[in-house]
Formats: sequence, structure tokens, C-alpha cells
Amino acid sequence: MISYVRRLALTCALGALALGAAACGGGTEPTHPGRAGRPAASPSAQRSPTVPPTLAPGPAGLTPVFKSAAHAKERTVALTFDADMTADQGPRAAAGEHFDNPRLIATLRRLKVPATVFMTGRWAEEYPAEAKDIGHDPLFEVANHSYSHYAFTGDCYGLPRVPAAGMRADVERAFTAFRKAGVEHVVPYFRFPGGCYDKEALRALTPAGVTAVQWDVVSGDAFATDAGAVTRQVLDGVRAGSVVVMHCTRSAAPTTERVVRAVVPALREKGFRFVRVSELLGSARKA
Ligand SMILES: [Zn+2]
Repeated sequence: MISYVRRLALTCALGALALGAAACGGGTEPTHPGRAGRPAASPSAQRSPTVPPTLAPGPAGLTPVFKSAAHAKERTVALTFDADMTADQGPRAAAGEHFDNPRLIATLRRLKVPATVFMTGRWAEEYPAEAKDIGHDPLFEVANHSYSHYAFTGDCYGLPRVPAAGMRADVERAFTAFRKAGVEHVVPYFRFPGGCYDKEALRALTPAGVTAVQWDVVSGDAFATDAGAVTRQVLDGVRAGSVVVMHCTRSAAPTTERVVRAVVPALREKGFRFVRVSELLGSARKA
């Protein structure tokens, strides 16, 4: 077990640090944060009926980073949707701005597309019924996109910054918000707001026991108005084992539902099968 963990840690070191945030895996044995000698994942994350696969920690116990299943043998692809809402956007929601996207969720259901929703705690607070509904549906899994959607590094799309000392608490606060909303199928995956992270952030989150999940395909749906351009970008970018980042918020990503309607049949036509991040991550570990 120790050599296994060390081997995985080395793989992750090369992937996550040398390459920025590449896929890392290489083991065959499921690893859970608790079993690798790390603090267990949050109680919310542990409530999933089956324990979701995670990556072993990187060197010095750094939070591991998953980007894609780059060596996937099967044509699998994970669509991920960031349900963004920042901690200071409450007044905008109160004024009528929609940070949710029920039509997108309905379309994913109609097309039977498994997906992973990276939800901010603030979003779950604003839309508790929708959060619970998404989490209740076995088609979906809910992952953590922080509570505040503030940046975990400096210079990240102008987002206000979470100090290192507050990073773990921000992540745990999102898990707490999910629990309060009654969200099921919570997985111990974390996506950094804006995708911005550094070694300090990875170190600060080690006690949270999460696997950081990035992507290899940027859909470009944020603030896009041309669904066709976003669709082409996704179709051009997807490879076997890809993770695609999209958004579940009408406010900042108004074309996403139309993009999904175009992308899903086109990728299925090419032989792709849609999976949640947990399945992709599990298959990457076995590759
Ligand atoms: Zn986001």
C-alpha cells in the first residue's frame, strides 16, 4: 500500500506540478482520502452510496489534481457544469438576475447525459430546491466549487481573494451548504474558482481531502452569445477521456443549453459515451 501510494504520488507530482494540471493515476486500487492516511473527506462527501474514487495525494501531501483521463481506451467524455454564484451576488439575484439554469438540467435529463455539477455553496443557498433536485438525481453528481467563488490565487479574473488561512473553511462551508439543502450524491472533488491554483492553495486544501478537478477542454461558454462557436470549440477539443468545462448559470452563460443540444448528438455520433467525473477518474486510475 505504501509503495502504491508513493508511486501514485510521484505520478501526480509530474502531472500536476510539472505540467500544470495533467491527468494522474496509474494505480488499480481504489483510494479514498481516509485510507491514504489523510483526514477523511467531509461528511457530505462520504454520504454517497458508493465511495467515489479519488487520487492519492501529491508530494508532501499536496491536494492531487485531475485534468483528464488522457490515456482512456474508451471514448468517454465528462461534461462538467460550474454552478457559479459569488458570495456578494445576493443583491443581484434579489433584483431578478438568474444564476441558475433549470432548462439546461432538463435538457441533460431528456438527453440522458450523466454530468458533474460543480456547485458553489452560495448557489446552493440561493437555489436549495434545485440543488437538492440535482443531487437527488442519480444522473448527476454534485462537486464543490467553493462557497464564495472567490479566487484561491492572486490575479484570477479580478475575483476577490480567499486568504490561504481561509481556503479550507471556504470549501467546507460549501459542503455544509449542500448538507443544509439536502443535496445527495456529493463527491469529494473540488474545482478552483476560475481554475486558478498554485502550490500554496493545493497545500491549504490538503486537510479537506478533496481531489482538485480541472479540465482539458474549455467550452468558452462563459459570457458567450454565439452558441455555434461554443459548439465548434467543444467538438474540436474533445478527445477520449476529456473533461469539458461549461456553466450552469443563465446569467453568465446564456448559450449553454443550446450548445448541449448540439454537442450531445454530435459526440454520440462519433462514438463518445458521456460519464460523470467519478467514472472518468476511476478509469484513469486503472489505465
Ligand atoms: Zn466558476
